[in-house]
Amino acid sequence: MAIREGKWDCSYCGAVGIPGPETKCTGCGSLRDKDVKFYLPDNAPEITDEAELAKAKQGPDWHCGFCGVDNVATATKCKQCGAGAADAATHRKVQEIPDAPDSPAPAPVRSTPAKPGSKKGLFIFLGILLAIALGLYFFVFRTQSQTMEVTGHAWEQSIQVEKFKLVVEEKWADKMPAGVRELSRKQELFKTEKVKTGTKRVKTGTKDLGNGRFEDVYKDKPVYEDRKIMKAKVRYEIERWVPERKAQAKGEGTDPKWPKIDLRQGEREGAKNSTYSLLLKGPKGDSLTWTTSKQNRWKAFVKGQAVNAEVRASGGVADVKALEKK
Ligand SMILES: [Zn+2]
Ligand SMILES: [Zn+2]
Repeated sequence: MAIREGKWDCSYCGAVGIPGPETKCTGCGSLRDKDVKFYLPDNAPEITDEAELAKAKQGPDWHCGFCGVDNVATATKCKQCGAGAADAATHRKVQEIPDAPDSPAPAPVRSTPAKPGSKKGLFIFLGILLAIALGLYFFVFRTQSQTMEVTGHAWEQSIQVEKFKLVVEEKWADKMPAGVRELSRKQELFKTEKVKTGTKRVKTGTKDLGNGRFEDVYKDKPVYEDRKIMKAKVRYEIERWVPERKAQAKGEGTDPKWPKIDLRQGEREGAKNSTYSLLLKGPKGDSLTWTTSKQNRWKAFVKGQAVNAEVRASGGVADVKALEKK
């Protein structure tokens, strides 16, 4: 650990860069101030002389409270007035000074006062949003009650037919179902991990030794490396129920039927779906359709009945209710 010589500045005559170990100003001869601040210039050379190193390591200087002179740590009596080291002596601080980070921290984002124009922009943006919402409401979702006449019923019912058959899937080897026929396998990147591969010594700061010298401070910092984790990915064949065909039946009237299906070898019935439509006619002869999945509600309407239809601006019918008989 390198030890280097620091400097101090004289607060009486303004001389700068006085060698750290000097206890008197090289310009005016004033004593080192009680509150003197040592500093380490960039590229200060390393001390290599054994005797000088020993002086650096003996500890912080102490400041005599009686005459104001600085004494080395090992001195038991003040070199100027003879006062004991234990009487009114102030030891200079030994402290660590962290290095400034390599990359300067990003400048804080200055919050600029809002310009009149930017506020105007916000209002325009909000205005456009409001216009879109109103437009959707007026031209698509807005409904209007309209008296209409039921002109007929229509229905459509379907059954999905599924077949048990071989399909090809791909999964990580450890997620593959048991007892399947493997087609191929290859190594693929599963994930990337940060792995600690060692440590490196990094200079993190300097230590003010309190006697005009500084010592470099090092710390062990972990070194990480990205490591790719590969895993086997497998393509295999497996038997599964898959949609095969759809059987559909449709017609008019209020008696819906399910399509007839002849299940072949290895087939089964899957999801069923039904849609019921009520055909409506308006006073001006316009025709509309209300569609629902609720058979009972649909069946309850009869041909020729007057109903109240909630007609959307887009032309769809949101709901239909029987008109109260007067
Ligand atoms: Zn001076
Ligand atoms: Zn003294």
